[in-house]
Amino acid sequence: MDLGKLIQDRIRDVADYPKAGVVFKDITPLLADHVAFAGVVDAIVNHHGRGTIDKIVGIEARGFILAAPVAYHFGAGFVPVRKKGKLPSRTHEETYDLEYGTETIELHVDAFAPGDRVLIVDDVLATGGTARAAADLVRRGGGDVVGLSVLIELSFLRGRGRLGNLDVHSLVTV
Ligand code: IMP
Repeated sequence: MDLGKLIQDRIRDVADYPKAGVVFKDITPLLADHVAFAGVVDAIVNHHGRGTIDKIVGIEARGFILAAPVAYHFGAGFVPVRKKGKLPSRTHEETYDLEYGTETIELHVDAFAPGDRVLIVDDVLATGGTARAAADLVRRGGGDVVGLSVLIELSFLRGRGRLGNLDVHSLVTV
């Protein structure tokens, strides 16, 4: 089975989660399949090329699961972007709008050396608000954002359009 089809097969659509009218992309079946999981990690690493990136940023929480093995295979460091109040040391923070209300995410101020080349990894790109805030945080922290890799891009929500000229790499587009 080719990787694209395997990935598609292992993503479960859950209707009306977390609220009515939303179809949630559940990646737990994919993570539980070692061939699909390894294929996703390899595809992200191969897209960018080993040695070209200094730090991989993972966005809480599912982004961590993908970003950590990508960092290991790249030979890059791992840096978490977390929801407000979870990181122990001094942080930069960014607040962005959700459909209802706002969300705030944080990054340690000393996460990067000046000019570090940084790839951001998350599971899903939806409206792009989270990715844009993460990219702004990385830049405030002195990093050079070289791209965003996501497993699933919900293209009907046009998140890519909110990310300027950032290199957006998605493995599955819905
Ligand atoms: P955005 O800020 O609207 O682009 O939403 C992206 C963030 O919400 C990511 O961190 C995702 O983990 C999460 N997200 C949005 N939709 C889904 C989904 O269908 N499945 C899993 N995560 C989602």
